Amino acid sequence: MESSQTTKIEVIGHISSCFTEKFAIPRQPGLAPSACARLKLAEPFNRPEMVRGLETFSHIWLLFMFHDAVEEGWKATVRPPRLGGRVRKGIWATRSPHRPNFIGLSVVKLEDTDLSDGVELLLSGVDLLDGTPVIDIKPYLPDSDCPAGAAGGWSGEAFAALEVRFSPQAREFCSAYERNTGSPLATLISEVLRADPRPASQRSRREEFGMLLYDVNVRWRMEEGGCVVQSCERT
Ligand code: SAH
Repeated sequence: MESSQTTKIEVIGHISSCFTEKFAIPRQPGLAPSACARLKLAEPFNRPEMVRGLETFSHIWLLFMFHDAVEEGWKATVRPPRLGGRVRKGIWATRSPHRPNFIGLSVVKLEDTDLSDGVELLLSGVDLLDGTPVIDIKPYLPDSDCPAGAAGGWSGEAFAALEVRFSPQAREFCSAYERNTGSPLATLISEVLRADPRPASQRSRREEFGMLLYDVNVRWRMEEGGCVVQSCERT
């Protein structure tokens, strides 16, 4: 029998992530291994015993809300960027955020567990926007979550692997940023740009592109055979 208790979904915590805007977030987890985030669990879901044993797993599944896609609404079919925006696929055949319940699913690396103030999980390889509400955590089980011979369907097309170069200003900025904050900004920028984060509709654009990583405005331009990071500045 259905009760409100079984259908009620509560947010268990929120993500703080290096991706402070949606543009250029990788299209799947793991594409940018340096992309870091913290998941701070909220009361009453932040009792230390609730994560007992979790630290023995290298990776975890996060179920979360695509909270920043809700306003745009859901779609029956979408044009996956990986197919260059040329082909429509049914929403249930994609991982698009624009789905009826706006629920996302990402496998991320569990770097550490911080129990000094409630429960905080330190994560890497994320594809999550800063502020993302999380609704569940499950350990990744290699034996059952990675079936032998699984077929990747239309997603078999490889992600881009662009060459990424830096201007002297950008290179120096990243070194100073890394010294001051400990965040490997240059590596993160390279990982994000290598996968070509441009939406299909902007592939022919010649002007500069901009993205926000942490509190840094990164400007880059497409050039023969790859992209050049032209400038970085704090917002
Ligand atoms: N691994 C997830 C997400 C795939 S879609 C899944 O399969 O369900 C990845 C895109 O989700 C990213 O490019 C980013 O733009 C978008 N995204 C990440 N967090 C989001 C959020 N909180 N709200 C809306 N979109 C988000």
